[in-house]
Amino acid sequence: LIVFDQVVKRFGDLTVLDHLDFRVAPGERVTLIGPSGSGKTTILRLLMTLEKVTEGMVWVGGEPFSHMPRGSGFAPASESYLRARRKRLGMVFQQFNLFPNMTVRKNVTEAPVHVLGTPRDEANARAEELLELVGLGDKVDAHPTQLSGGQQQRVAIARSLAMQPEILLLDEVTSALDPELVAGVLDVLREVAETTDITMLCVTHEMSFARDVSHRVLMFDKGRIAEEGHPDQIFNDPQHERTQAFLKSVL
Ligand code: ATP
Repeated sequence: LIVFDQVVKRFGDLTVLDHLDFRVAPGERVTLIGPSGSGKTTILRLLMTLEKVTEGMVWVGGEPFSHMPRGSGFAPASESYLRARRKRLGMVFQQFNLFPNMTVRKNVTEAPVHVLGTPRDEANARAEELLELVGLGDKVDAHPTQLSGGQQQRVAIARSLAMQPEILLLDEVTSALDPELVAGVLDVLREVAETTDITMLCVTHEMSFARDVSHRVLMFDKGRIAEEGHPDQIFNDPQHERTQAFLKSVL
């Protein structure tokens, strides 16, 4: 479903991704780990078309993302092309960025109604189901300021799912939360993983979560994959010295 083909990303002189190759299959849940600055967030931002590759290609479901293929001159894609592609993915960030002046229900229904053209009644019904799934069935009429950080992040997850993305990108979604709120958000994501076949790409420092939900873990170092494997292998028997050192620092 996702293909990174020899992707290079540079910011000025800094090479953040260095001829990166990897694939993610439909329904697969992949966790990206590695030291700060190793390029994990950049991968998610390339998929969201918030950044463009410097070289190489990113494909999602056979469609080129960010640039058209070389045959057509490696031309930048138009904004309308990218906007249409972006709908295939949902991203949840560290900061939840809810609309503070709207109810929880409206936060979840705005994009389906205005971007997908879903009828308001249908969007409301779906929002209520999703808010039930994230444990906030009783908060549909609340405003974000009346919710804890963990509850707000669960609304942000429901809001992403409301767009029915094929792929959910999660970028350190618990790192802005107070420690006692982290478990509730991770439980919701475990539930999403267990009850849907959504493809997940997840950057996290929560190693027990990574171990529980992911089919595969990719360990990044300096814009390349240092090691990849099943979570049991990566966490119990890391082969690469960079992985060993990284896990020692976070576990
Ligand atoms: P972290 O775990 O700290 O979020 P990361 O592995 O996700 O790290 P990235 O956020 O992908 O790392 O960033 C990789 C490198 O690219 C960092 O050195 C960062 O400073 C740099 N970088 C990211 N975005 C930009 C930008 N827009 N302009 C310049 N440099 C950038």
